[in-house]
Amino acid sequence: MTVTGVVQGVGFRPFARRLADELGLSGWVENTLRGVVIEAEGPGPALDEFLRCLKEAPPPHAEVSVVEWRAIPASGGSGFEIRPSTPEGDRLGRIPPDLATCPECVGEIFDPANRRFRYPFTNCTHCGPRFSIVESLPYDRPRTTLKGFALCPDCRREYEDPSDRRYHAQPVACPVCGPRLALWDAKGEKTAEGEDALRRAEEAVRAGKILALKGLGGFQILCDARNPDAVAELRLRKRRPAKPFAVMVADTAAAYKEVRLSAEERELLNSPAAPIVLLGKRPGATPVEGVAPNNPFLGVMLPYTPLHHLLLRDLGFAVVATSGNLSEEPICFDESDALARLAGLADFFLVHDRPIARPLDDSVARVVLGRVLVLRRARGYAPDTIEIETGGRSVLAVGGHLKGAVALASGAAVVLGAHVGDLDAPPAREAFRRSVADLEEFLGVRPDVLAADLHPDYFSTRYAAERGLPVIGVQHHHAHMASCMVENGLSSRVLGVVWDGTGYGPDGTVWGGEFLVGDLKGFERVGHFRRFRLPGGEAAVKEPRRSALGVLYELFGDAVFSRDDLAPVRAFSVDEKAALKGMLAGGAGSPLTSSAGRLFDAAAALLNLSPLTTFEGQAAMGLEFEARKSGTESSYPFEVTGGAPFQFDWGPLFLAMIEDLGHGVASSDIAAKFHNSLAEGVVRAQEVLGEKRVVLSGGCFQNVRLLETVVNRLRRRGFEVYFHGRVPPNDGGLALGQAAVARKEK
Ligand code: ZN
Ligand code: ZN
Ligand code: FE
Repeated sequence: MTVTGVVQGVGFRPFARRLADELGLSGWVENTLRGVVIEAEGPGPALDEFLRCLKEAPPPHAEVSVVEWRAIPASGGSGFEIRPSTPEGDRLGRIPPDLATCPECVGEIFDPANRRFRYPFTNCTHCGPRFSIVESLPYDRPRTTLKGFALCPDCRREYEDPSDRRYHAQPVACPVCGPRLALWDAKGEKTAEGEDALRRAEEAVRAGKILALKGLGGFQILCDARNPDAVAELRLRKRRPAKPFAVMVADTAAAYKEVRLSAEERELLNSPAAPIVLLGKRPGATPVEGVAPNNPFLGVMLPYTPLHHLLLRDLGFAVVATSGNLSEEPICFDESDALARLAGLADFFLVHDRPIARPLDDSVARVVLGRVLVLRRARGYAPDTIEIETGGRSVLAVGGHLKGAVALASGAAVVLGAHVGDLDAPPAREAFRRSVADLEEFLGVRPDVLAADLHPDYFSTRYAAERGLPVIGVQHHHAHMASCMVENGLSSRVLGVVWDGTGYGPDGTVWGGEFLVGDLKGFERVGHFRRFRLPGGEAAVKEPRRSALGVLYELFGDAVFSRDDLAPVRAFSVDEKAALKGMLAGGAGSPLTSSAGRLFDAAAALLNLSPLTTFEGQAAMGLEFEARKSGTESSYPFEVTGGAPFQFDWGPLFLAMIEDLGHGVASSDIAAKFHNSLAEGVVRAQEVLGEKRVVLSGGCFQNVRLLETVVNRLRRRGFEVYFHGRVPPNDGGLALGQAAVARKEK
């Protein structure tokens, strides 16, 4: 029998052996590059039962996709053995993601009688590091970053005893033979080891210091979330003025004190992936306002390694836990890199000698409409495999530029790599190349073709061109739509409503508020938002007032510059206005855009919520939060003009907003009506086009208020509506769509 799927690193071989023993079968099991191979001998009914259990009752974190088998002559053996791994064969073995510490292991580290009492690297077959320690396949200790740690007699006994929870747990370790902690000062001088290092790191955090912690997939930066000075200092050093930080709390009970939790949210928080979960903040939550300023949500995660469990339980309060990096760079994952890049950021480094094979940031997810929506796919979710239609060439899809992530399609599977961050800085580009190499190594596949965005300046597009293989260009919004289709198992004609900040339009304009009809093979742009000029182009991303000015210029022309009653106009100086006037009139440096993201920015600036921002999406988030305060169901007028493509004209909408502003209507109601109007726009498009199924994708659909309103209004009218779940709606999900589209190309 050959078993494929997620079957390595999840205790599959010990499971097969126990099962064989119970059923009185003889034979053997081994890990190969293809998966798990089993030879079993015994009476027919017992073999049938064996096969059934492999498929239907595998161990907790295994995912069996196929069990192939054939009959062979009996060899008359006795006993059932686990054979050492063989490194031959084709490579379809799949590596499971890293798994949060299981309850048994947590029990052990807090049990003074246990030999792993307070040991920070405790793990077993049900939990612990996986993807973050694998160097090559098949998954076996000599090919992990634990290869340098020889097992002590006690650990070896556990590792070799089929009845033990640590039977063939590759990262098994204990205080005698495993990795150890060390504390370094800001210069990298070792000041303490082991338990002493942990205790001193805790003292530092209590004293308001900033600690860099080497975690599972990289460094995290921690500080006391109750201490306003520590949080302010961290913001200053990290050059991150306003973007929310996540916190880690000791357990679910501690989380309940800070945030509201539904049953689904509690389950997500406690899942083996242990992501940062965005949750509704309770009044009086302990983290200071500076942790997530002006934000009704708080990103919370639970400890996912024994080290985190020890730290959080000892401290007894919430800590800020943010990625160990500078602003948009990828996370640091080795000590020398951390010392170089985090110098001046951390006061202390709590490190250990178990190397990390590849950087894996903390994942971010939330629950929307009763199900999980992953916003950043990294630790705990990567690598992930999605089944697709079989056949076609192997495709390496390189994704976009911001929120870079790659995917490799081969056979009937697409394997998605982890989030690597924005591809501007050299460390991010290195992580990107590493991610590509990983997928090719794990699947044992060299791509036949590459799929890339049409944008000529994306680093990923340039990388694709350098590979010397055929490159298929996939339009940005078509890729978003396809990504959502594949995730939902759709392959035939849909209406794709794809709204984001920017995407390369084949007509030379910046797209971003698109209505596409098509399938994986192709699309027609049936509609888009009315276009407007964006003065300064990309500069508008951090200056929502520029988007507002572009929108208002489209409505009022030059007369806008005397409308000092409007906040975004007032926000510019006389000199700035003169320069902007020239740009808008001539069109130079003012590209035309149909971006929905920039429309959200414009609306936020009109309400004077945040004329200048420090991270993309900040203004739109402000508008979303404002809208949540209002219960109004009403909306503003808008027009649908033209035939093919139709234009969604937001002119009447903005004029009505300005009128409401003049009448002193509450910002929350205006923001809510803005959201409702856009949702009505989707309903109208659906009605006009008569398409039965609609998919929603693009970064704007991270906006829960928008997503919920659109979905509810479409469902109420009996339409089928599909949205993202395990794949992000933002550019982090592009690669999946690119791969699916490129596969259809002949
Ligand atoms: Zn465990
Ligand atoms: Zn040991
Ligand atoms: Fe996008």
